[in-house]
Amino acid sequence: MRLTNKTVIITGSGRGIGRAIALAMAKEDAKLVVNDVNQTAIDETVAMIKDLGGDAIGILADISDARQAQELAQKTLEAYGKIDVLVNNAGILRDAMLHKMTQEQWQNVIAINLNGVFNCSSVIGTIMRDQGSGNIINISSVVGLYGNVGQTNYAATKGAVISMMKTWAKELGRKGIRSNAIAPGFIGTDMVKGMPEHIINQIESSVPLGRLGKQEEVASVAVFLASDESSYINGEVIRVDGGLYT
Ligand code: NAD
Repeated sequence: MRLTNKTVIITGSGRGIGRAIALAMAKEDAKLVVNDVNQTAIDETVAMIKDLGGDAIGILADISDARQAQELAQKTLEAYGKIDVLVNNAGILRDAMLHKMTQEQWQNVIAINLNGVFNCSSVIGTIMRDQGSGNIINISSVVGLYGNVGQTNYAATKGAVISMMKTWAKELGRKGIRSNAIAPGFIGTDMVKGMPEHIINQIESSVPLGRLGKQEEVASVAVFLASDESSYINGEVIRVDGGLYT
């Protein structure tokens, strides 16, 4: 049990990678806060955690709204009294080539993938400063490191998440708070399964391991970063991409 007595907020954990992280952390005895904009999805994840014998509450909040991010933190403190780990996971895609990308596609991705991460980290990072301990895990993407066709908006936010994380590693490190990022490659969640089949086939053939990743393979890295096993890792980006960019 590597996360006993740790309270963890995971944004966007109603499904996909966030849900997989929640379930993996529940197995390590963490107390989970399942956040999403979809109440049905929240209820499903909370029920799955309870089926494992875990401890979880669900909090409906849109992290792109600073007030709702504040409420997410406040309700967590009311329920559990402290916040040990924040996993900035919620994110969306609105892909288009640069010459076709609309203001709406740009702004929607910025609102959730960038402003959402700032909203949660500023309020929860401040709580962690006061506690004198904490841990911020950011789900970036290999696209934030290397770019990708049709993803100007997404790449901008995922690169920015890494820059913010490195800044927090310096700013908050002295306060006993670690910040790191995971950069997944292509993981077989609903987000990726929504892509055309020929694109998925192309991706699979370009990955040295010859397949999409599993969400559990991202979750196990998040558990490691949340645990004391990674106690001297701060400001790091861990790629989970099957060797795609080796
Ligand atoms: P997903 O679409 O399956 O799940 C994302 C969840 O976030 C959904 O449940 C959604 O309702 C929630 N969400 C969306 N907007 C929100 C908001 N404003 N506030 C709170 N919750 C919100 O996506 P996923 O594939 O599980 O991706 C999770 C994270 O991993 C994202 O940040 C994504 O960019 C990143 N990522 C995914 C892949 C991949 O291949 N799937 C690769 C690299 C990075």
